[in-house]
Amino acid sequence: MGFDIRVVGGGLAGSEAALSLARLGLSVELWEMRPVHRTDIHETDRFGELVCSNSLGSDALRDARGLLKAELRLLGSDVVACADASRLPAGKAFAVDKEQFSGLVTEAIQRSPLISIRREEYTRLDSSIPTIIATGPLTSLDLLAELRERLGRENLFFYDAVAPSIWAHSVDRGSSFLSSRGGDVADYLNCPLTREEYYAFVHALQSARRHLPETPDEQKYFEGCLPVEEIARRGDDALRFGPMRPIGLRERPEDCFAVIQLRRENREGTVLGLVGFQTSLAITEQQRVLAMIPALRNAEFVRYGLIHRNAFVRGPSVLSQDLQLGSCPHIWAAGQLCGVDGYMESTALGLVAALNAAATLRGFPRAVFSVQTMMGLLVDFVTRERSDFQPTNANYGLVPLEPGPRQKGVDREAFAVVALEQIRHIADEVEAWGTSKTIL
Ligand SMILES: Cc1cc2nc3c(=O)[nH]c(=O)nc-3n(C[C@H](O)[C@H](O)[C@H](O)COP(=O)(O)OP(=O)(O)OC[C@H]3O[C@@H](n4cnc5c(N)ncnc54)[C@H](O)[C@@H]3O)c2cc1C
Repeated sequence: MGFDIRVVGGGLAGSEAALSLARLGLSVELWEMRPVHRTDIHETDRFGELVCSNSLGSDALRDARGLLKAELRLLGSDVVACADASRLPAGKAFAVDKEQFSGLVTEAIQRSPLISIRREEYTRLDSSIPTIIATGPLTSLDLLAELRERLGRENLFFYDAVAPSIWAHSVDRGSSFLSSRGGDVADYLNCPLTREEYYAFVHALQSARRHLPETPDEQKYFEGCLPVEEIARRGDDALRFGPMRPIGLRERPEDCFAVIQLRRENREGTVLGLVGFQTSLAITEQQRVLAMIPALRNAEFVRYGLIHRNAFVRGPSVLSQDLQLGSCPHIWAAGQLCGVDGYMESTALGLVAALNAAATLRGFPRAVFSVQTMMGLLVDFVTRERSDFQPTNANYGLVPLEPGPRQKGVDREAFAVVALEQIRHIADEVEAWGTSKTIL
């Protein structure tokens, strides 16, 4: 067949998988359907395109995504190396210049002598060719139909929502202030609301017209990415204790009752995203309702918020411990399709799938990620049986606690020390695989 393994999807997981496999000396055929066949969200034909926010979470080990990045770095992640090289100032957040980032990922893939690129839509699972499926939340409809057929309709599908971006020059600076929550660096522009403005805004959100998916069974959102109007429907005060909480901000106006934060989305700072403000409102309603915020009364939109498809498999029912699709041997799932949510989480499950596939192809025992690592917690989450399965992002709440009434919270520092030690062992183990011959 001219290559050792096929990787389908050149997003975060697929790019990480392809580059990791190449690093291990395996030749890869990487399928990416863009630009021949587009998704509703991607705007370029680049590999590793970030489809929405430019934040990859924090870099601190106390933050689960910070630990995840540290683990990925130890395992030689090329995607995280590209993120490190395109980092922007963003307070405690780890934000990147999106274009520079995907440009670097694309260059790395194009430069690799072991990766051949195929710009084509993949629609049929073929177990005779070792394959990693990393087609993400916007998996093409034909492949989705094939997955539904092979795995069962009940083991697939989902929806969630995206935040709008606006032009920085259109924000009223007299009605906004710079400050980041809990940090010294003023990388966030805050749009405050008084008590009256806040409740008027919430009531408008509660009654605004929404764009809803066609069938009710698809109106199922990921709890970590709820549309703001959905949060508003849970109670008048829900937003001011959630994404609009005014706490931790220095030098805020005295009558600041709630706040909407804006964060830069490009290096130049010309485009700002509304933090945690994903919405499924109709476009005219977004214009109307956001104009009720004093600082945004003349805001010009770069992109409107929207509701989107988010495909994932019900991992515990269809994935084996090493992320193979149970009914399709030698086909591994990777990234968001496995039932994780987030750029770094998808990257992590791209790397794990690549290591699992490489071990199988080379005849080595699989590197086991225990639940004492953040990567292991994600693998455990998507493969362990549970009655109610919803995608997860990385978080310390995934750490299993000792049963009993006097449970203590997780000691994050101690957890991170053990996790990084374990990942170092895995990195040594993988290095010892060398570039020995493929035996499958
Ligand atoms: C609209 C939207 C906004 C999001 N916003 C954020 C955010 O702000 N922060 C965050 O952390 N996470 C966000 N996510 C979640 C998620 O982490 C990202 O989508 C992440 O990019 C997933 O990585 P992935 O590699 O699994 O999929 P993707 O990065 O989407 O990559 C999948 C690739 O597969 C290709 N493909 C699909 N079907 C086929 C096929 N049949 N044949 C060949 N190629 C195919 C696609 O073109 C795409 O390039 C968002 C998701 C969506 C959909």
